[in-house]
Amino acid sequence: MHEVSVVTSLVDAVIRELDRYNVTKVNSITVKIGDLTNLGEEQMSFAYEIVTRGTILEGSEFIVEHEPIELECKQCGFKGPAKVISDPDYDSHSIPILACPECGGAVKVTSGQSCVVKCMDIEEAE
Ligand SMILES: [Zn+2]
Repeated sequence: MHEVSVVTSLVDAVIRELDRYNVTKVNSITVKIGDLTNLGEEQMSFAYEIVTRGTILEGSEFIVEHEPIELECKQCGFKGPAKVISDPDYDSHSIPILACPECGGAVKVTSGQSCVVKCMDIEEAE
């Protein structure tokens, strides 16, 4: 499961960051996940629960914010969201088309690849 290694490195980074403060409790962690990363939200929450066991993050809420895929076309100048088709094999899954919806040209992905901790809701000791 790809999500476990991703969540492990996110959690490691958060714990390193929290070391600099006198944190008594972590209420929640918000992460921004690009839709192009193919990371499953449910799998990530499940991995988070396991990975944080025995750490200061244990019991905190794991909030996932989606980042939509956006493209930029060099040929016609199109800027905007990727066209998405649904995957016939999975109901909840969709496949982004990484080509210009206007002219079919090659595009640069400008958004949708993030996998970062956006914010943390923590309680510090006086
Ligand atoms: Zn184009």
